[in-house]
Amino acid sequence: MPNRPYIVGNWKMNGVRAMLAEARAIDRGAARHPGVKVAIAPPFTLIHAMAEDSQSIAVGGQDCHAKPSGAFTGDVSAPMLKDAGAGFTIVGHSERRAIHGEDDAAVCAKAEAALQAGLDVIVCVGETEAERDAGSAEAVVCGQLDGSLPRSESATAHLTVAYEPVWAIGTGRVPSLDDVGAMHRAIRARLGAIYGEAAASISILYGGSVNADNAAELLRADEVGGALVGGASLAAESFLAIVLAAEG
Ligand code: PEP
Repeated sequence: MPNRPYIVGNWKMNGVRAMLAEARAIDRGAARHPGVKVAIAPPFTLIHAMAEDSQSIAVGGQDCHAKPSGAFTGDVSAPMLKDAGAGFTIVGHSERRAIHGEDDAAVCAKAEAALQAGLDVIVCVGETEAERDAGSAEAVVCGQLDGSLPRSESATAHLTVAYEPVWAIGTGRVPSLDDVGAMHRAIRARLGAIYGEAAASISILYGGSVNADNAAELLRADEVGGALVGGASLAAESFLAIVLAAEG
């Protein structure tokens, strides 16, 4: 495995300032597991306070705009995230792709903007259930990698890929370990084709209904370098159990 296991919590549109106490508990817990890299992507409104408060976890955004500034009402740019204390941002989450109509080119532009602003970036890919049933999951995911990944110089040093089958997100359903391993191997191969040897340093996370009970098994699958966790990241107890599982 190229790096320390990387466990990232995606809080989505959940959390007001009272939730900072949960983040503090996660931060304290993460300090006891230095072998695991732990991060939370809270809503934009909590990034600054959480970053100021955290010693052991990284704090990041869930999305950013492709432009650094301008007339884009309601959007938040990568330099703004950086200024608020973020160290990374997620881009291309399936909820952004589906609900906000973001295609691969838009995701790629956001990833480049994040790198340009000095942020690390997690690019999400994943097939729908219909695509898996049709036997095209690997082709879909590899197409997303081709279209969404940033190509700027030294991108690989700041890049993480998250494989999140859309049908596993928030559903309690997970792919078989064989399917997780097969997809992660296919992603590793595609990263090699795109970036060459530099691809070896890129962590590939699994995301989709990871919880305290299934984390240890999922994290043992081939080429799984960590997890992107939604629901189970909202409480310190369940999130830290996943961190513990990552320590092995
Ligand atoms: C996610 O939204 O990135 C996610 C993996 O959610 P959940 O863990 O709740 O399936």
